[in-house]
Amino acid sequence: MDLDLFGMMRKEGHEALHVFSDPESGLRAIIGIHSTKLGPALGGCRMWPYRVTEEAVQDVLHLSKAMTYKAAVADLSLGGGKAVVIGDSTKDKTEALLVALGRCVESLNGKYLIAEDVGMTLQDMESIHRGTSHVAGRAREKGGSGDPSIMTALGVLEGMKVCLEEVFGDPSLKDRVVAIQGVGKVGTHLTQLLHGEGARLYLSDLDSERLRKIPGSLKATITSPEEIYSVPCDLFAPCALGGVINEQTLQLLRCRIIAGAANNQLADKQYGSRLYERGILYAPDYVINAGGLINIACEFSGYSPDRALARVRGIADTLRKVFTLSKREGIPSYQASDQMAQDRLKLS
Ligand code: NAD
Repeated sequence: MDLDLFGMMRKEGHEALHVFSDPESGLRAIIGIHSTKLGPALGGCRMWPYRVTEEAVQDVLHLSKAMTYKAAVADLSLGGGKAVVIGDSTKDKTEALLVALGRCVESLNGKYLIAEDVGMTLQDMESIHRGTSHVAGRAREKGGSGDPSIMTALGVLEGMKVCLEEVFGDPSLKDRVVAIQGVGKVGTHLTQLLHGEGARLYLSDLDSERLRKIPGSLKATITSPEEIYSVPCDLFAPCALGGVINEQTLQLLRCRIIAGAANNQLADKQYGSRLYERGILYAPDYVINAGGLINIACEFSGYSPDRALARVRGIADTLRKVFTLSKREGIPSYQASDQMAQDRLKLS
């Protein structure tokens, strides 16, 4: 296999890539550490049935870099890391596998702190904790900050209002049409919050079970995963996986704003520039979806839900700064946020 690991790491400046195998439990995991410049690398663990190892490596490299930028822009003393476990979380996730994963994290001596991401639950964090003390985002009753997805959704909601103000001069969500891709942990909370604000909702998910759980009182319109891109709407909210803004979908979009929770929404940076040229406002993913990370970071100074909420609401100010810089410099919003992150990393 010709996998240019060092070339891939050098390209984005990654510090380390740790590959783990535990034949007994079937664990195959990769932990990527992009940067520990601002503090220990914190990032969720994603369990996904990657078809080839290279796909898992690419994902962990992209996601861990985004964590560095997310922490930097949110003004946190944390670095960026991520873990990926190769497998189907609905079939392959066992207690033994999770404990083995914990032992892998433990071997890094606190350089990487594991948390929840796609395919992992709060309960899984307890199993992982049996193998390591370096777990962030544990349940409230265990002294942690609890499920991060609520705060992530709240941060996205605050960010959406800033986007609306920017485009329409009015932050209100009342009667705004929002198309949400993915009603998992974050998407479900966001759906509820948006309904509370009076928005009109279009939803899609690959998993029909998730859609069935959405209460009928929300009066949401269900669309197919293919159709969600072309729904005429004010906001398109990607809340599933990354890479959804690409050559195919760019042609389909009929929204004014893209603002959602998914990590790495742009399949390539060029799509951020093309959105800008088309006049679609893009809320950089790692800025608007930082609520969960900000919530977890509050654990390190003694967790208080009120303080965490106040800090999560600060995403609105950060996003305003991004849009101001974008306008001042005449650059796309993703470039403005990258510049803000790089400035902080340079100054530290
Ligand atoms: P989740 O696994 O609970 O939900 C993801 C949902 O997306 C699932 O219901 C899945 O069926 C659906 N999905 C996958 N591909 C789809 C497609 N093509 N079309 C429609 N639906 C699709 O994950 P989550 O925790 O809600 O996270 C969602 C996204 O937000 C991820 O990209 C995650 O990395 C990011 N994120 C999550 C958090 C958090 O606090 N959980 C924080 C920051 C970023």
